[in-house]
Amino acid sequence: MKRILVVEDEEAIRSFEVINLQRNGYMVVDVPDGEKALAAYDQADGDFDVVLLDITLPGIDGFEVCKQLRARSATLGIIFLTAKTQEMDKVAGLMMGADDYVTKPFSPSELVARVDAVYRRVRLAAASPQKTVIESGPFVLNTKSRTLQKNGKSIDLTQVEYQIVELLMHNHGDAMERTKILSAVWGTDVYTDAKIVDVNIRRLRVKIEDEPSNPAYIQTVWGYGYKWCP
Ligand code: CA
Repeated sequence: MKRILVVEDEEAIRSFEVINLQRNGYMVVDVPDGEKALAAYDQADGDFDVVLLDITLPGIDGFEVCKQLRARSATLGIIFLTAKTQEMDKVAGLMMGADDYVTKPFSPSELVARVDAVYRRVRLAAASPQKTVIESGPFVLNTKSRTLQKNGKSIDLTQVEYQIVELLMHNHGDAMERTKILSAVWGTDVYTDAKIVDVNIRRLRVKIEDEPSNPAYIQTVWGYGYKWCP
């Protein structure tokens, strides 16, 4: 059963989301604000695959809800809903552990495609493959537990960040095109912009680089993409 929590204060939008997700096989719990979202999450013992999370909410906002949900689960899929273009910049800078974002207004097929993509990643993470460890410089990547350590210390990564690191480490030294990273991590759905790759790389550098502004491990290949250079 695909379980999703929808957090949206505008009733018309919420029912639009609920109806379209239900039509596509999701078991939906919907709430109008952040406090109720956290309560619903705890009441269900965290038994959700994905959370669709509006940013502008009465009471605590979507960013804070995201932070609190991420503290409860590293593997939960979280998708932000943004209303305004100005909000987009903030979202990009403050993804705060969300996996993706969708800009309003969106079509039913766009919504479902984005949710499905995050759902697939969450399930993939749950059904972990056989144990493999990749060592590279100060890093140890464990593809079974989907974790990354640097000098023996664990680094908290979102599923998306983990997948990017795994992809880059598997191909270490090779320049990886942004669009290749995009399709390998997000799938080939047409709605995702390659800029999301840059957003995640920026966040990854903050987490793994000694000097994020002067990255040594994830290097930029100008006009092309990125490469892993331990
Ligand atoms: Ca709202």
